[in-house]
Amino acid sequence: MRVTVNQDVCVGAGMCALTAPRVFDQDEAGVVTLLVAEPGDEEARATAREAATLCPSGAVRIIE
Ligand code: SF4
Repeated sequence: MRVTVNQDVCVGAGMCALTAPRVFDQDEAGVVTLLVAEPGDEEARATAREAATLCPSGAVRIIE
């Protein structure tokens, strides 16, 4: 599984970092940053998938 983020469309809502804090963070402007591109355990993978669902801008993509 691979996680990607698109900082150009991120609106800084923060759902990703709240939902999967081990996978996503936000910079000073609130824009998403990716901490782990290939989460190694199931808990991180599950929360990353949930973050992709919750992200209001479609900035988070999961490639299974
Ligand atoms: S949830 Fe989506 S829009 Fe919000 S900070 Fe994360 S990537 Fe950006």
